[in-house]
Amino acid sequence: MRKPIIAGNWKMYKSFDEAVEFVEAVREAVPSEEKVDAVVCAPAIYLPTLVDIATETDLAIGAQNMHFEEEGAFTGEISPAQLASIHVDYVILGHSERRELFNETDEAVNKKVKAALAHGIVPIICCGETLEEREAGNTEAKVSGQIRAALEGFSADEVAHMVLAYEPIWAIGTGKTATADDANQVCGAIRDVVKELYGAETAEAIRIQYGGSVKPENIVELLSKEHIDGALVGGASLQVESYLKLLEAG
Ligand code: PEP
Repeated sequence: MRKPIIAGNWKMYKSFDEAVEFVEAVREAVPSEEKVDAVVCAPAIYLPTLVDIATETDLAIGAQNMHFEEEGAFTGEISPAQLASIHVDYVILGHSERRELFNETDEAVNKKVKAALAHGIVPIICCGETLEEREAGNTEAKVSGQIRAALEGFSADEVAHMVLAYEPIWAIGTGKTATADDANQVCGAIRDVVKELYGAETAEAIRIQYGGSVKPENIVELLSKEHIDGALVGGASLQVESYLKLLEAG
């Protein structure tokens, strides 16, 4: 049995005070980590404070991006070593907004995954198709290409501990959710790719989230599906009440 993982992606929302208030409100209320892995991926400048507030609770704090280099002349970037130095547990990599708006390539995502592992940070690796790709029948080809590129060059054990997130781009922040069956089918296809590359045991172990307008009203059905092991959630992770409801479904 794979343990569900529910990760909030706050994107570029919340003031510092709002972020602190949120984590103070949820840190004691999150279900035990034996039941569900609860993660909040916050804006980078809030991370040290939020990690501090969440210490010794069942809430984990994640970043939304990072550079793949250790250090150097990369103005405005944050390195994996820097994230590790403040004890960040997770990092979202290859989110479609990073790929589309900041030209992040499959190759860069692969380098970032390697860098995250080198620092003990669990990568949440995103993939997903545009509406045009879906309508052209290219969904599985697109996500399989992204996953193959991201997972190149690891051991089976390393891959087993990663998290993948299937996020159809047309469903992100739009209120449109893939049907639970469609989402499950694509997550199953992703698991097949992992099986082909790293074997059945790794494919059984790796957790695959669905993301795209997940909310308390639809998460139970999504999580009931065989291949959906959690959710990556934007909008509905911003309020304490709905975030806690999402965790309860896990
Ligand atoms: C996301 O940010 O990854 C996401 C899925 O957003 P939303 O839940 O708002 O669609």
